[in-house]
Amino acid sequence: MYNFVLINNNFIEKQNASISVFDHGFLYGDGVFEGIRIYSGVPFLLREHIIRLYESAQSIFLKIPFTIEILEEMINSTIRKNNCKEDAYIRIVITRGKGIMGGHPLNKHEPTLIIIIEEINLFSEISRNEGINLVTVSTRKPKQDSLNTQAKTLNYLNNQMAKLEAIQAGGDEALVLDVNGYVCEGSKQNIFIIKNDEIITPPVYLGALNGITRNLVITLAEKNGYKVKESIFTLHDAYNADEVFLTGTGSEIVPVKKIDGRTIGRTSPGEKTRVIIQNFSDKTKNLISNNVDV
Ligand code: PMP
Repeated sequence: MYNFVLINNNFIEKQNASISVFDHGFLYGDGVFEGIRIYSGVPFLLREHIIRLYESAQSIFLKIPFTIEILEEMINSTIRKNNCKEDAYIRIVITRGKGIMGGHPLNKHEPTLIIIIEEINLFSEISRNEGINLVTVSTRKPKQDSLNTQAKTLNYLNNQMAKLEAIQAGGDEALVLDVNGYVCEGSKQNIFIIKNDEIITPPVYLGALNGITRNLVITLAEKNGYKVKESIFTLHDAYNADEVFLTGTGSEIVPVKKIDGRTIGRTSPGEKTRVIIQNFSDKTKNLISNNVDV
């Protein structure tokens, strides 16, 4: 159990951790966030996540009032304060801060920083081992010019609706299409299909997040000599793929067993998915701790 949440510069006991109802993160979804996995007490791909956080902030005119190095130290000190030496998940949220209702969005705001450590399990052990059921949902990925899909902002209602729809329909996870009907991503995961020895994932400009796990998986797959292609594809392509899997920080790598009732491939997980899951798990072991006093 992790008892302390960092809010601005203070560690607050979890049950008392709260922010103002006038915070624009709450009132307007105005802020950015990152989720980072911790393996054996060490944040995984920390710098990559922090860079994406700063880029999201830059995109929404949010000036983070400290350097990347200071933020990394705050994250590591939150891990130490919670005595976290095992696998967990850390959430970093930076909101626009407290402001007045209906006021100028940039007036007199001091950003609010929140760092939370939790255990998370997005899917059951059995689903992770045997594959999940994806359901195509009616919620579409907004176009880049409606909502910046590359910035990881607090605007996640679209993603939550997709997940809710999938659950309502009896599935484990949503398959979200873009406005033209091409396969885009899950509610919080990137998607990969494998067909005829080619691994295909939708390009980021379709609206999928430029996932950090996605990029690692591309590197791992290429190291295995697999051919990886970023390309648009349809539901028909996904239904007829040999293998399908999702990737994400919270989800890690999850095989897909069925899409809209169609069984995918011959086995779940498929052969290449298994190899990539193994490569990923090797990467998350043997992390060198950069926590000074752990
Ligand atoms: N797409 C969306 C919409 C997400 O929220 C996430 C989770 N961050 C991902 C994809 C996967 O990205 P990452 O591997 O960086 O966690």
